[in-house]
Amino acid sequence: MTDIYADLGIRTLINAVGPATRLGGLPLSDEVVEAMRAAGQRNVRMDELQEAAGAEIAALVGAPAAYVTSGAAAALSLATAVCLAGDRPAAVDALPAVAGPRRRVVVQRAHRDPYDHAMTAVGAELVEIGYPGSTRPDELARELDDRTAMVLWRPGRGGDHLDITEVSALARAAGVPVLVDAAMDVPPLSRLAALFDGGADLVAISGGKAFRGPHTAGILCGRADLVAAVALHHQDMDIRPRTWRRSEVTGADPVRGRHGIGRGMKVGREQIVGLLVAVRAFVRDPDAHHRRGRQELADLRALLDADNRCVVRDDHEHHLDVPVVEIDLSPSGRQADEIVRELDRGNPRIHVGEDLAWRDVLTVNPMGLHPGDGTALARRLIEILDAGPGHGAADAQEVGR
Ligand SMILES: *Cc1c(COP(=O)(O)O)cnc(C)c1O
Repeated sequence: MTDIYADLGIRTLINAVGPATRLGGLPLSDEVVEAMRAAGQRNVRMDELQEAAGAEIAALVGAPAAYVTSGAAAALSLATAVCLAGDRPAAVDALPAVAGPRRRVVVQRAHRDPYDHAMTAVGAELVEIGYPGSTRPDELARELDDRTAMVLWRPGRGGDHLDITEVSALARAAGVPVLVDAAMDVPPLSRLAALFDGGADLVAISGGKAFRGPHTAGILCGRADLVAAVALHHQDMDIRPRTWRRSEVTGADPVRGRHGIGRGMKVGREQIVGLLVAVRAFVRDPDAHHRRGRQELADLRALLDADNRCVVRDDHEHHLDVPVVEIDLSPSGRQADEIVRELDRGNPRIHVGEDLAWRDVLTVNPMGLHPGDGTALARRLIEILDAGPGHGAADAQEVGR
């Protein structure tokens, strides 16, 4: 088979960052690729595929209902659209203009995130409550009036903030749905169960992160009535109402709107089927990938420990629930930014986690590593350290910031 990337003159890279969208997500398993290939070669009715795949995914992950989206960010947009306009055709057609006062999404300040564009893009107005270090129940309670369409909650944010149970109890009393952005936090599936136990109405999950599905897939799951309304905002409605029959899967009434605001977030049958197969594989053996990852990290560690110029520490990435290692460059006297640029420029081309680069620590997440990549990374790093500083002379200019 020809190498399309080589044809294009693009170098492939070793992904030691993890499921980063800027690198195209994670490598896909043969099983997922094969399912996508087979799905791509035949046509089906997309509403029926969504219904069938959504029902199986819901059963696999333990949710009342599920819908496949083009990523968790799209799931946030579609959930917001449903909370703003429900299944009322006139309101669906009007988005991002919201009829009536109910257009606010309330979020704790500490839960803000660059992904919040997903909600404002469909017409919501974000309202922050609390402070970076703490949020109080009354600060939420006083926003839960008839202007508020939804509350957004994100897991794993430190500080003295409102947990999912407190938020859901207050919101439920006011009849306002709670959406959880668990893009990076589910699986483990026990966390999803805890979110539903805590009262979450809808949960957005990335399909391309810990589930290792196509990285342009995601899941919106939760309350069946809300999930059912997603189709109206999302599916292509280039149909003739006179001939468009009920679904043969569920017998549900055919969706009869025009294209909703989610039409630009369309999902291919390859993504839907690829995600379904990835979720099946995860449920079959949740630890399979971590076992392989731990091996790569051990191989990397063995070489770097013997070299003795960096301090390698085992750590755990809490959101993705994955073992990682930190490579502390301080003993080597080299700066992380310079090493990152050399790893990108060299051969093999390598991208590592930079979240701690400000204190000269590189992070290696094994989720995207192929067998042998751990060793290749360690060898390349040792080579850079051997060459000494100065090879990044052009960097200041190159980076220009
Ligand atoms: C990754 C992420 C998203 C977006 O997920 P995609 O599947 O890439 O669309 C949304 N929210 C948070 C907190 C994330 O980490």
